[in-house]
Amino acid sequence: LRGEAQKHAHEPAVTLDGFKPEVSSNIGDVAGAKKAVSYGAEGVGLLRTEFLYMDRPSMPTEEEQYQAYKAILEEFGHMPVVLRTLDIGGDKELSYLKMDPEMNPFLGVRALRLCFKHPEIFKAQLRAALRASVGHNLKIMFPMVATLSEVREAKKWVNICRDELKAEGKPFAEDIEVGIMVEIPAAAVCADMLAREVDFFSIGTNDLSQYTMAADRGNPGVAHLSDAFQPSVLRLIRDVINASHKYGKWTGMCGELAGEPLAAPLLIGLGLDEFSMSPPMVPVIKALIRTLDSNEMKKLAEEALDKETVEEVRELVRKRVPAAA
Ligand code: PEP
Ligand code: MG
Repeated sequence: LRGEAQKHAHEPAVTLDGFKPEVSSNIGDVAGAKKAVSYGAEGVGLLRTEFLYMDRPSMPTEEEQYQAYKAILEEFGHMPVVLRTLDIGGDKELSYLKMDPEMNPFLGVRALRLCFKHPEIFKAQLRAALRASVGHNLKIMFPMVATLSEVREAKKWVNICRDELKAEGKPFAEDIEVGIMVEIPAAAVCADMLAREVDFFSIGTNDLSQYTMAADRGNPGVAHLSDAFQPSVLRLIRDVINASHKYGKWTGMCGELAGEPLAAPLLIGLGLDEFSMSPPMVPVIKALIRTLDSNEMKKLAEEALDKETVEEVRELVRKRVPAAA
């Protein structure tokens, strides 16, 4: 099946009734970018920028970051590339940044929370990203958003950087979309409020499952709980997509669920606008999407969201869409 799918990797994924979601990749560097393009990715739904910061003795300068982002953007020409700002903390540390020891690092000063504590780090990244955007379709995305105030605060720093660059005569694309990851249940529950403040959402099902279920995503002992097929997680996904559409915004997904064939029928049924996954899954998910009818999947998703267990949800999809099994 994968060999067959690869033959059509570079064709779009359109459902039988003409719905065309974007199928993109999660990448972390230039090698990943090249791989994504070769597998037919239509852009980048998640550029993890941590690679630039880790395993080195000092902070990457704005110039170094600019060069690194530019190199990745050039692989994609005018295709959309969603750059996620630094998601450090949790279990990821930087040797050159002193972080206070925490009892629960995954519930601590991580990602955006850390960036607000160190505006100089945040600004260097935002300035580099803005400068790299010239001639490309770059979008900026903030990880680990829990509140509306955080979104406003993050956007404030983007505007400060824009003003600085303007004053310095340094060019950047004027119309960059700014969005957030929805990966904390608080953000999913208040998605209607957040939708007014952003251009797009991208659902991070890895963290959204972990935080919704209070089950460590890396702990095999609770893997049956931190499962994105849990009815509670599926309902949050539905609500987030609906909230974005209500305000004319789009929702993507960059958590592992987006690259799971068994989830694709449900996500098409829920109206997901963009799927982002590891490069080798792009042709497989594209091939599957081409076999689906979005209205039929809408009914399937409604039924699935009434199921009471992960097993029942999976069983329903397997039965109705054998190609996804
Ligand atoms: C997620 O949480 O689903 C996600 C895509 O981000 P990461 O895996 O980098 O935490
Ligand atoms: Mg995450």
